[in-house]
Amino acid sequence: MPGRNVLIVYAHQEPKSMNGSLKDIVVDVMSKQGCNVVVSDLYTMKFNAAATRNDITGDLCNPQHFSYGIETKEAFKKGCLCEDILEEQRKVHDADLVILQFPLYWFSFPAIMKGWIDRVFVQGFAFDFPGCYETGLLKGKKALLSFTTGGTEEMFSKEGASGDIRYLLWPIQHGIMHFCGFQVLSPQISYAPEYVSEVKRKEMLMNWAQRLENIWEEPPIDCTPPWYFQ
Ligand SMILES: Cc1cc2nc3c(=O)[nH]c(=O)nc-3n(C[C@H](O)[C@H](O)[C@H](O)COP(=O)(O)OP(=O)(O)OC[C@H]3O[C@@H](n4cnc5c(N)ncnc54)[C@H](O)[C@@H]3O)c2cc1C
Repeated sequence: MPGRNVLIVYAHQEPKSMNGSLKDIVVDVMSKQGCNVVVSDLYTMKFNAAATRNDITGDLCNPQHFSYGIETKEAFKKGCLCEDILEEQRKVHDADLVILQFPLYWFSFPAIMKGWIDRVFVQGFAFDFPGCYETGLLKGKKALLSFTTGGTEEMFSKEGASGDIRYLLWPIQHGIMHFCGFQVLSPQISYAPEYVSEVKRKEMLMNWAQRLENIWEEPPIDCTPPWYFQ
């Protein structure tokens, strides 16, 4: 879709990794579609993952009892968040599609990506009360998790040792992305790239490239408990 904006939030240390290749494919395919593709390469940026009082410039509302949620909400309203947060918020604001690209770490995403969420998706910008789930402040945007695993697809089945992969998507897809109003697209899961053949890896990359060709036409998933737990 020419003119659409895509933000890739990318968390891998090694450009030659499978995650690096999956990210490069998005840049390549979606740029060819005429999309504007922006990458937040968190390790290269040395993105600060720690949510601290340094995230607020100027005076705190209550310096005697620091509350990160209250202070960042007020700082957002006053335009007093620090520059690296504001820069990422501008990218999210402009994006029609946000892709999180990461290796699965402990059934979740790497800490640097969690820190990006903690610091960028502040109240008043990404959500509010009211202003969550269907009325989340980032509604109208699409989000997609693309990730790799160490475990095989079989391990991440209902009967497998790790349980259904969908169980662990609930906190991220539902608790973060859907909570903030995103329409969540099906995840792109590349299972066990370290343990499969070169041919299989190429196939995974090709499948991703093919999917991206029609990504704008994809309907979102039904982000309710049955999708995850039935
Ligand atoms: C702290 C930590 C916690 C973890 N927790 C979990 C967990 O809870 N559950 C779980 O399942 N796993 C877990 N893992 C494993 C982790 O998810 C995998 O190691 C990771 O997903 C593999 O992806 P990668 O991009 O790092 O692979 P890489 O090792 O970088 O890549 C795999 C292979 O793909 C090759 N490759 C790259 N690009 C191409 C290309 N274009 N064409 C062909 N081949 C290519 C590479 O050369 C390499 O041989 C954890 C790992 C760590 C470090």
